[in-house]
Amino acid sequence: MTETLFEKLRRVDAEYYDKERVHEIEEALDRIRALKRQRNAVLLAHNYQRPEIFEVADFTGDSLGLSLQAAEVRDAEMIVFCGVHFMAETAKIVNPEKTVLLPNLAAGCSLADTANATDVKDRIRELKEYYPDLAVVSYVNTTAEVKAVSDVCCTSSNAVTVVRGISSQHILFIPDQNLARHVANHVPEKTIIAWDGYCYVHHQITPDAVETMRRQVPGIKILVHPECRDDVLKLADAALSTSGMIDYAKQSNALDFLAVTECGLSDMLQIAVPEKHFYRACKICRFMKAITLHDVVVALEKRQFEITLNEDVRVRAGQALTRMFELTGAARDNLALPADVAAE
Ligand code: SF4
Repeated sequence: MTETLFEKLRRVDAEYYDKERVHEIEEALDRIRALKRQRNAVLLAHNYQRPEIFEVADFTGDSLGLSLQAAEVRDAEMIVFCGVHFMAETAKIVNPEKTVLLPNLAAGCSLADTANATDVKDRIRELKEYYPDLAVVSYVNTTAEVKAVSDVCCTSSNAVTVVRGISSQHILFIPDQNLARHVANHVPEKTIIAWDGYCYVHHQITPDAVETMRRQVPGIKILVHPECRDDVLKLADAALSTSGMIDYAKQSNALDFLAVTECGLSDMLQIAVPEKHFYRACKICRFMKAITLHDVVVALEKRQFEITLNEDVRVRAGQALTRMFELTGAARDNLALPADVAAE
């Protein structure tokens, strides 16, 4: 028997998703479906979004998966991006012909905000005096302006491959210090100079919560996002990106999991893999939860808030993304990215 929306959402949070709320959600979903047809729009949603947003998403995924999806958008005129600002910028970088909307401008990212382009340029200048071969590797959780002054981008799942793949011995890794440490542990032959940023969500998760759960649920698999602190990463059965956690949970014989990351992923896992159980040691990201269905309705009605980029910044940020795809062999044929960047 097909599960109703009410049943599905109650599996995530029985207290929050009462009958009245789910009824309002259903009305908003109908309105969004009609507006999407009217505007010829597609909706991309990050794995950490509110679960009701997934109901109208054409694609869900992590930031890299969504960038690739954004680049694939051909027939639609508009991309509604339910994620955070830097991800919507990336959609614009890879598909500049489309109108890209971010439904709520409060959907920023405290990690991306730790690095602004002026400070990054100053630091590069300073470090190049000591390390002329310095290469700048930026996690995709950065603004387009920071990507534009970087040599190459990376994601949490390909950061190790990217850093190994470039010829420089000295790497300025921006902006996440925890991911930088994870990379340094896996690529000890290189010198990784970490920017001192961190994600406030992942940084709050302590080893105590993880150890308690391991004691309480024998056989539980602990899946940790590499943005977590080193003392939490050490407790992991696997350190994985958000998409990596979904694949792992689906393929594993284990029945119980702890996804140590933002809570949205636990919600999504519980919906996507209902036969398994996902315990929580997660924290909510206020930026990822900023977008509501009401915001999506208004965004489609008023065509707000449109992402615009300076063309020079867009092209140079695109070069850093191009190099990431070259170093990792990921599909990039459909991306509107410059091809004239030499791979190292
Ligand atoms: S979870 Fe962390 S990195 Fe992701 S959007 Fe929120 S603050 Fe930024």
